[in-house]
Amino acid sequence: MSDKKYYSIVTKKFNLKTSHEEWLIESQNIYNKVLYFYYCLFLDHPEIHGASGQNALRLMEQITIVGRDKKPVSDPLPWKGIPLYFRRAAINAAIAAAKSFLARDIQEEPTSTFSSGVTLYKGMYRELTSQSVQIKVYDGEEWRWICCRLYGNILPDNVLCMSPRLVFREKRIELHVPVKYQVQDGRTLKERVQSDLKICTVQFTGGNTIAVCCILDTYANVEKVLFIPGGREYRHRCCMLWNKIEASRKARGNVRQDHADWKYRQKWKHINEDLAHQVSSRIVEFCCENKGKVILLPKYSRDYSHIIMGAVESGSPIRVSYQIRRQLWYKAWKDGILVVETEVYGIGSKCAVCGEDIRKHGELYKCVQGHQGNRWVNSSKNLGKNFLYKIGKQMR
Ligand SMILES: [Zn+2]
Repeated sequence: MSDKKYYSIVTKKFNLKTSHEEWLIESQNIYNKVLYFYYCLFLDHPEIHGASGQNALRLMEQITIVGRDKKPVSDPLPWKGIPLYFRRAAINAAIAAAKSFLARDIQEEPTSTFSSGVTLYKGMYRELTSQSVQIKVYDGEEWRWICCRLYGNILPDNVLCMSPRLVFREKRIELHVPVKYQVQDGRTLKERVQSDLKICTVQFTGGNTIAVCCILDTYANVEKVLFIPGGREYRHRCCMLWNKIEASRKARGNVRQDHADWKYRQKWKHINEDLAHQVSSRIVEFCCENKGKVILLPKYSRDYSHIIMGAVESGSPIRVSYQIRRQLWYKAWKDGILVVETEVYGIGSKCAVCGEDIRKHGELYKCVQGHQGNRWVNSSKNLGKNFLYKIGKQMR
């Protein structure tokens, strides 16, 4: 294995509470004013347009900030005492926005206002823990430190936290903290295949079993199987919610009210997110326990996926499989596992032992030669075989 280090970045989102919300908002306002000032300045100075990010930043500071030599500058920044990293964050955001405007044909007018969240670089925050953080804010006259409470998430031990970002939502303020994990195994698929590779196949079903996972060795022999249940419970939760929506609509005389429906849509979103989170975590955990190095998913074309999604009813856990897949990609990489998709051709219709056609009876299957067992385990083996055949061909 090479010495190259691999990382995975995950954003931890916290809700932020403070008794000085107005100062945070004031800081955001002044940030966006500084951003707008540099945005206009950049557009007015075509000689800077070709400069790289770092150079453009330096050139813009030279014409706006009085240096040690006390020489007057051509376009002084109209606000005094803006902290260095706060200013630089705004300049970088301004350069990016201005360059993107210059590169686009469709946007005719430059942006006239900004309402960006604020990235807190060095010197703008301190003492960050899972429960609190101190932030430097502008109170309208001067800069001061305030203590804010954080809740709703946890910062893991022994990770590197990168610059957090203040995000202003309609009714609350969030702090987004990017967390950098070192990935233990960053090998490519090619490198992994050369050693004794263990694969964890995952298939999604619409029954009580949400996902079937099989650990396969390099000959597609099944070593372990995990059925992740919860489909029935999920369906039940969905039904309860729909009944509530219906009752609430009836109570309103069947009048559509987006505001009232919003609450239920949020709840529905939470149920799905919660399930996707639990199932994807369990899959990665199972793969790790059994030393799997690749998670293998069935690959469906976009058209085919649309057909499947159109055919399954709305309480089916299959509908959450998109979210589970998406979460698997980043959760697996964090633990050094690659996620790969492979062709599904024939996996559900052929016997994995002899290749003959099979007949299904519920969860079971039987082939003409008499091989029988669980149909999902059979299709997992076929999926693994398709994959091993494909990479075998590619690696040769
Ligand atoms: Zn057979």
